[in-house]
Amino acid sequence: MISWISKMAVRKRKSNGRFDLTKEGKGYSANLKMNDDTYKLRREIINIIYGAKNHVDLPRVNVRITDAHKGKKKNVLGTGSMGGIPVVWIPKTTINDPRLKQVVYHELVHAVCNKGHDPRCKLMKPTIATDGLMSDNDLNDTLKKYIRGMRK
Ligand SMILES: [Zn+2]
Repeated sequence: MISWISKMAVRKRKSNGRFDLTKEGKGYSANLKMNDDTYKLRREIINIIYGAKNHVDLPRVNVRITDAHKGKKKNVLGTGSMGGIPVVWIPKTTINDPRLKQVVYHELVHAVCNKGHDPRCKLMKPTIATDGLMSDNDLNDTLKKYIRGMRK
């Protein structure tokens, strides 16, 4: 079983006065520098989010690719912000994981709906096993349910 973790986005003010969205520290790795390789990885996540947008209305979501996490955090497959600007962080090591799509949907619920974990929900339980994957229909229906709940 693998843990997912949600944390508030830590906002660091950069030298140009703008805020950077980062969650370094406590075993979390830094955002990767944006170069051709990182853009390519980020594109994969953005494509998953575009796919979700065919089924539900989503606001703009910031996507950050981080280096592999270390120590106790090395099994964290993704992170979603809760409150504030929606941000999804995916370590580069998750990109080739068969659970990637489900992880992105999970983090979208944190980041967009501001919802925490629910052990009774297949998508929002805090851990995922490789053999516990949801179907695409199931993923889209569950995301839809959370987005609709948000608007009540
Ligand atoms: Zn989570």
